[in-house]
Amino acid sequence: MEDCLFCSIVSGAIPSKKVYEDDLCLAFRDINPLAPTHVLVIPKEHIASCAELSEEHEALIGHIFTVIAKLAKELGLKNGFRVVSNSGVDAGQTVGHLHFHVLAGKPMNAKMV
Ligand code: 5GP
Ligand code: ZN
Repeated sequence: MEDCLFCSIVSGAIPSKKVYEDDLCLAFRDINPLAPTHVLVIPKEHIASCAELSEEHEALIGHIFTVIAKLAKELGLKNGFRVVSNSGVDAGQTVGHLHFHVLAGKPMNAKMV
């Protein structure tokens, strides 16, 4: 999609520090890390947020979580990790392309907000 930052990262028009890529998804380092490990995992297809998901996306989302599990092993996140997806204004979503934050490398005490 034009004017979408993460679509531009998928196309390579905007560079990123990639950690994983396949036909369906891409994982790259967050430009402003909030934890020692902060990776974003995104579908290559433009989907605005979790709010736009429907049955047709079930295999894709399952695949993304399998990739997250593999990445956690590859990145050595032995002490655990958190997966977050902000959807909409109240959640603080700033990029309108579905993404899953994978955060690790420090204790995260806040359970929710
Ligand atoms: P949100 O706030 O929508 O949940 O998450 C968007 C994330 O994208 C933020 O953590 C922000 O640091 C990250 N981000 C914004 N612009 C860029 C960019 O150009 N490159 C990378 N790698 N991350 C970005
Ligand atoms: Zn997009």
